[in-house]
Amino acid sequence: MLGVDLDEKQIAQFQRYRELIELRSRQFNLTGHKTWDKIREELFIRSLRVLAPAGGNAPTPEWFTGKRAIDIGTGAGIPGMIMKITLPELQMTLLDSTQKRTIFLGEVANELELKGLEVITGRAEDLGQERGHRESYDIVVARAVARLPELAELTIPFANIGGTVILPKSSGVQDEVVEAAAAAEVLGAAPAITMEVSQPGEAVADDMVYWMKISPTPREFPRRVGIPHQSPLIER
Ligand code: SAM
Repeated sequence: MLGVDLDEKQIAQFQRYRELIELRSRQFNLTGHKTWDKIREELFIRSLRVLAPAGGNAPTPEWFTGKRAIDIGTGAGIPGMIMKITLPELQMTLLDSTQKRTIFLGEVANELELKGLEVITGRAEDLGQERGHRESYDIVVARAVARLPELAELTIPFANIGGTVILPKSSGVQDEVVEAAAAAEVLGAAPAITMEVSQPGEAVADDMVYWMKISPTPREFPRRVGIPHQSPLIER
């Protein structure tokens, strides 16, 4: 369906990734999805929807190849690790503030011998101000991290001009998109495009929210750790 053929090495990488998720989930709070059915459907297949050609001007898997991407608040590697295994040519950075999770991601990266993958422990608010990360990515993804007004500040500063922020959300996101419109504009994004993606998989449809970066993010954003959450950029 994606037009992507996985070779034997990639299938073995998915298998080992699954085993490591199952193993480490028994030891600490890695992800809420612990059984193979849930890992397959909610983590693996649902992540692939980011790569699914959703029609219109939405990106296709070829569009991602060779680009530089970051996954903000990746947790167990969702969706960034799945994107990286599926499209090995993608340069991927996985960011999470919880060290237990980034240690896990380092273990996965080593075992799967993934090249072009960087794992960083830290906060989006800090990294978004750092040279080499700020306005440095063609693709920025984040899933299940925050509502859109806060997420705008945690993601848009990472995108370069012409870069795209892609946010998988449960369907019915339109109110959030409206609420985040002023924030997205201030941070340098064009108005959001939203597309419903229901495949691959059997899970309920996701709304994929796309923000294209069209102008630089003002220097003061992202603000200090915790401020985007406490005081999101909402027009009052
Ligand atoms: N994206 C994964 C998924 O869809 O399964 C994980 C979602 S989990 C609910 C949210 C993750 O975001 C947690 O692992 C948390 O540590 C991380 N996180 C929350 N705020 C963050 C921030 N400001 N900077 C970096 N990571 C953050």
